[in-house]
Amino acid sequence: MVDEPDAGLLSLNTATVRKQWPLPQIIDGCVRHDIRGISPWRDQVAAAGLKESAQRIRDSGLTVTGYCRGGMFPAIDREARRAAHDDNRRAIDEALTLGAPCLVLVVGGLPQDRDGVIRSKDLAGAREMVRDGIGDLLEYARGAGMPLAIEPLHPMYAADRACVNTMAHANDLCDELGAGLGIAVDVYHVWWDPNLKREIERAAGSTPSRLLAYHICDWLVPTTDLLTDRGMMGDGVIDLKLIRSWMDACDYRGFHEVEIFSANNWWKRDPDEVLAVCRVRHQECS
Ligand code: ZN
Repeated sequence: MVDEPDAGLLSLNTATVRKQWPLPQIIDGCVRHDIRGISPWRDQVAAAGLKESAQRIRDSGLTVTGYCRGGMFPAIDREARRAAHDDNRRAIDEALTLGAPCLVLVVGGLPQDRDGVIRSKDLAGAREMVRDGIGDLLEYARGAGMPLAIEPLHPMYAADRACVNTMAHANDLCDELGAGLGIAVDVYHVWWDPNLKREIERAAGSTPSRLLAYHICDWLVPTTDLLTDRGMMGDGVIDLKLIRSWMDACDYRGFHEVEIFSANNWWKRDPDEVLAVCRVRHQECS
């Protein structure tokens, strides 16, 4: 039997109520619902103002548990790769201003042109661009003191969002590229992996631990949309208590960040209801 999680470790990834509220209202909502952690997205921060958002989060007493997101390294030419690099450096600067503990990386898939059309089938080449892109960015990130957290994404996103699809691949990149790099474990993406426990332990076995963030939601059956049909904890098939027990056993003491993209359900509800349900389900189901 796994203990209930510490309610103080609940964090809200702001994507969960992004359709209903802008960032300032999300911050106020977290305070109202006694959710102590928050993980904002760049577009929402830009809309509300970087300095203003950082100040508001601080004034609210919230802990930033990650900044979403950098990455998207593969590109069709040098110029586009350079633009991605520059944008990622800006993301690191923003993460510093916000006091984030890490910048989450969604690494990108096959190279796309400026219209978003995939122009290559070279998956191995895309993975090399990811490795090289993270390597370049790490030099800046280390100097800034901002850890980078690779988020392995479910293989259904390999073409268009991330060609790092397993914890093992993320751990391999950490082995190769060294200090300043870790992993964001998102159950939605890795729950199916037969090597998940082993790879969590491998990530935790490094010094310092590579376990930089833990994202929770649930996998619905059937899933009706590849991106925007994530479930609330307890509504799907992921053994969330088991996976958290592995994180706990590896001395992960960070936040449990609820991240739910849900076009037809949670994005349509009263956001105060969504946050209230998050609190309850975090305790009961994760
Ligand atoms: Zn995530």
